Amino acid sequence: MDFKISDELESMRKMAYEFAIKNIKPTMEEDEKEHKFRPEIMKKMGDQGMFACLAPEKYGGLELPEGHMAATLMAIEVARVSPSWGLPFNLQMNGPQNVLLKFGTEEQKERYLPGLIAGTSGGCFAITEPNSGSDVASMKTTAVEVDDGYILNGTKTWISGVPYCDCGIVYAMTDKAAKHKGMSAFIVDFKTPGITQRAIHTKLGLFCAPTGEIFFEEVKIPKSALIGKPGQGFAICMTMLNFTRLSSAARAVGVAQSCIEEACKYANEREQFGQPIGQFQMIQEQIGRMSVEHEAAKLLVYKAAWQKDQGINNTLETSMAKYYAAESANFCASEAVKIFGSYGFSSEYPVERFLRDAKSYQIVEGTSNIQKMIIAQFALGYRKA
Ligand SMILES: Cc1cc2nc3c(=O)[nH]c(=O)nc-3n(C[C@H](O)[C@H](O)[C@H](O)COP(=O)(O)OP(=O)(O)OC[C@H]3O[C@@H](n4cnc5c(N)ncnc54)[C@H](O)[C@@H]3O)c2cc1C
Repeated sequence: MDFKISDELESMRKMAYEFAIKNIKPTMEEDEKEHKFRPEIMKKMGDQGMFACLAPEKYGGLELPEGHMAATLMAIEVARVSPSWGLPFNLQMNGPQNVLLKFGTEEQKERYLPGLIAGTSGGCFAITEPNSGSDVASMKTTAVEVDDGYILNGTKTWISGVPYCDCGIVYAMTDKAAKHKGMSAFIVDFKTPGITQRAIHTKLGLFCAPTGEIFFEEVKIPKSALIGKPGQGFAICMTMLNFTRLSSAARAVGVAQSCIEEACKYANEREQFGQPIGQFQMIQEQIGRMSVEHEAAKLLVYKAAWQKDQGINNTLETSMAKYYAAESANFCASEAVKIFGSYGFSSEYPVERFLRDAKSYQIVEGTSNIQKMIIAQFALGYRKA
């Protein structure tokens, strides 16, 4: 495996960082306080080609040979500046786009992909429900087939992108008795009558990233909204998570990097007992461990991205990267807060926000326990792919 990043990838990485500094950072503190999401930043990301790595040119994409690595490097840089903004970036780049590219009909791709790539249309994916999280197949949302379409009923919660979404991949049961084999995936236009979106305002972090609930009440969608075949939804969902997981891992790497940068800067400035605290061995132990955890997570993430660009099925390595990066980001954020002392407990410095935001990586796209379960199932020989 070649760890050298090509000049083209390096320039995309740099572009994403500079984009975040120029377009996100100036209003970030104010937006975090006001829980404000700015759709205009999505549009600017689209103009910059930041959502275009994977899709073919005919939909507005760039279809880069190293598209997953490019998206990964950009996710790291965006989250390094703003973990909040890493989330919409992940969603737009890896969620509905990937599902449509892999399983969508030509009509679905032509209708939805150009807007998602340009950032003029916001997309989401809706799996989680009030009583169904890790146990995806226990979802209660139904899609009942009628002559000219399906009728959707149910509630989705903790959905990123809501209430700003124009469309989304909605997972619903078309045959409850068949359990996970009775789940189907649909691309749904959120202007369809019967759909309500509502923001969740009680979050711990990621304040500039919208998260909310969607209610489907007797929502009539056409047969052409079905993605793949009836009953293929669970397989589509797992494939999608295999991509969004990588981006979540990348964002965690970005947060860990910022925590180390902030902690080192502070440790060189803050003096106690007549010397910078960075001179104390115990602070060095903390920074040393943070650096190694971060480096290990980053390499796992790079490897998973590289494998995806080679077309290698890497469920195991993606789960390893996601698990390790999530835990590493939480470790680094927690250590950074300790290094800052009481200032680490203050919203005047960014590390308390990193700690709050990093908690999300242990939950989204399958919790850390779920990743460990997948990893152990491979190790024990219970699954092969
Ligand atoms: C910021 C944010 C954004 C999100 N965005 C989206 C989104 O865009 N779309 C979407 O569909 N969902 C989204 N989610 C929801 C997220 O995917 C779920 O919260 C997650 O899958 C866990 O489900 P749960 O919260 O119901 O926890 P539960 O599944 O109820 O788990 C509770 C606890 O039990 C543990 N647990 C559960 N099952 C097992 C098991 N078999 N073995 C060991 N431990 C287990 C879990 O690890 C966890 O610690 C988002 C959540 C957050 C916080």
